[in-house]
Amino acid sequence: MSGEANPFESLQSQIDDAAAHLEIDDDVIERLKYPERVLETNLTVELDDGSLERVKAFRSQFNGDRGPYKGGIRYHPQVTRDEVKALAGWMTYKTAIVDIPLGGGKGGIVINPDDYSESELERMTRTFATELRPMIGADRDIPAPDVNTGQREMNWIKDTYESLENTTEPGVITGKNIASGGSEGRVEATGRSTVIAAREAFDYLDKDLEGATVAIQGYGNAGWIAAKLIDEMGATVVAASDSSGGIYNPDGFDPVAAKDHKNETGSIVGYEGAEEVITNEDVLTMDVDLLIPAALENAIDEDLATDVQADVISEAANGPLTPAADEVLEETDVFVIPDILANAGGVTVSYFEWVQNRQRFYWSEEKVNAELEEIIVDAFDAFVETYEEYDIDNPRTAAYVVAVRRVAESFEEAGTLL
Ligand code: NAD
Repeated sequence: MSGEANPFESLQSQIDDAAAHLEIDDDVIERLKYPERVLETNLTVELDDGSLERVKAFRSQFNGDRGPYKGGIRYHPQVTRDEVKALAGWMTYKTAIVDIPLGGGKGGIVINPDDYSESELERMTRTFATELRPMIGADRDIPAPDVNTGQREMNWIKDTYESLENTTEPGVITGKNIASGGSEGRVEATGRSTVIAAREAFDYLDKDLEGATVAIQGYGNAGWIAAKLIDEMGATVVAASDSSGGIYNPDGFDPVAAKDHKNETGSIVGYEGAEEVITNEDVLTMDVDLLIPAALENAIDEDLATDVQADVISEAANGPLTPAADEVLEETDVFVIPDILANAGGVTVSYFEWVQNRQRFYWSEEKVNAELEEIIVDAFDAFVETYEEYDIDNPRTAAYVVAVRRVAESFEEAGTLL
């Protein structure tokens, strides 16, 4: 993975590319390129042996013009201020392209969670939730899971917030488990939108999804669900990777059995249904119909992009292509469904969770999936309509044109400019 591209600069250049097609004041565009605020905090956490440790954490509230800030919290040693700013910006444009009434935020703690016990992680999460309390809330800023966080951490944050506020407010956070006010369909939502968007792209490009070959980088929540669902749609998953390496079987393998193997051993490598062990780079450059990057940002840089052979890329991960890689893929006519659309299922079902929390009325999984399907298909249609109408060469730019236009409109309509 290349660490060269600064994700915040990538975000800003994506907004500039979109702005070139829009008649929006430069001053407004400038606003749309920077976060409204970023909290940088040092958490003091007691370890199990009684010693204290300082860990750094961030929360970026990028833009609230369309509604409360919304975005996940990740635990990863490579979390930086600029990464969190970029991820919060991507959330802003993601909620805009799927047209849900939310803004964009993101947070993270700079740790490798494997280095801590569950009780240490709980104390750390509760300390972070206490620090976040003044800035979060169902009408202010609503965190969610991201890399290395899940229902467990969300439940801790909700419980801490509710205890401190002496209230019941499940809508302060999404991605909770069902018993704590979570939504049916949330766990599968990101992978589901990635494959719905891929299916729509194949249809748009007149390509057959039945029997199409698929490679998937990253076999966590987003990646493995995408593998399972695309397999159910009739495509053949031939390759996948996680942080330990990749597996390959030209005839395809059973995504669920590969996941079971990962659950048992910690990695998909060694799964007996695959013929070969390959590298992560092999997975990204394999000659397949569809590539789904579902690990971290900057997975494909300019050099690697020249070797990419997939026809379509559906970005489950946030920012998996550097801007330079994007330009290469534009030249080689790879159709890229940008992250802000392809992985928007997670935030869309988070929005449904928030709606259900506020209504105190819960939906069936069928209803959640049907509503998600409609939102992603509508967003895909708006995206390709703009792609054609504005005659834009780069699909990502078309997605940003839709999203930036919507955020700028709500800022200008609010009458903020006196
Ligand atoms: P996760 O922690 O569940 O899974 C990440 C996976 O990536 C793991 O299998 C890990 O082994 C693998 N990985 C890490 N480094 C790798 C490398 N160098 N090569 C190959 N594999 C590698 O995380 P997730 O929730 O699935 O998130 C993955 C991506 O999807 C992130 O970019 C995240 O921001 C994005 N995303 C997730 C959601 C969600 O709801 N979970 C929503 C939107 C976007």
